[in-house]
Amino acid sequence: MIEVRDLCLNYSTREETLRVINIPHWSVEKGEQIAIFGPSGSGKSTLLHILAGVLVPSSGRVVVCDEEVSTMSEAQRDRFRARRIGYVFQNFNLLQGYCALDNVLMGMTFCSVKPDRKLARLLLEHVGIGARLRHTPSEMSLGEQQRVAIARALAKKPEVVLADEPTGSLDPRNKAQVVDLLRSMCEEQGSTLILVSHEMDIIGQFEKQVRFSDINRTGEVEVMR
Ligand code: ADP
Ligand code: MG
Repeated sequence: MIEVRDLCLNYSTREETLRVINIPHWSVEKGEQIAIFGPSGSGKSTLLHILAGVLVPSSGRVVVCDEEVSTMSEAQRDRFRARRIGYVFQNFNLLQGYCALDNVLMGMTFCSVKPDRKLARLLLEHVGIGARLRHTPSEMSLGEQQRVAIARALAKKPEVVLADEPTGSLDPRNKAQVVDLLRSMCEEQGSTLILVSHEMDIIGQFEKQVRFSDINRTGEVEVMR
């Protein structure tokens, strides 16, 4: 389902080049649910961005859903992401001028399912936003926005769900509930789930737990001059 080989990603600034990702080999089976944990700044978000085709690796091969993301053009990557990936961004990335319901409906455009108002409402009810359907992001708390972002990612029944710190803005009760929902929806839909977090109580809800430094060889971010 997901296979990464000799993957490197460097960030260059004017002064230095940082090698943030160096993963010799890593793979995930279809339908697996994996929690990746590691300290802030270790490159977890960067890896998810590469898997989703948001970022292009400096070198190496990335195959997701039998498609070689690492050789796609920008337009191909955008289409690939719209069709196959449900992404819960760390900063939510909700469309500001649009209400919760429209944000979820827009998550269903450019993919294989038709925008489905009933499903969108149902998902928003599941994440506890049923009474806030018409609120725009600026009219919602961070925790509410986060739950809308989760509903949007699930709405298109994607083959892969990538969730970047999806509980960072939630209170303890909502945290456990939202992770339960992510897991049960992914299981129901047959979606592969990769969740990234530094919160060990969230990680503990998963059978498969991956320490990021066990797959990413840089461990400490390397500086190359
Ligand atoms: P994590 O998600 O594990 O907290 P990130 O993937 O966001 O880590 O970032 C990993 C490292 O890469 C950090 O040290 C960060 O400062 C650096 N970094 C992230 N984005 C950029 C960028 N656009 N340019 C330069 N450095 C970056
Ligand atoms: Mg991050």
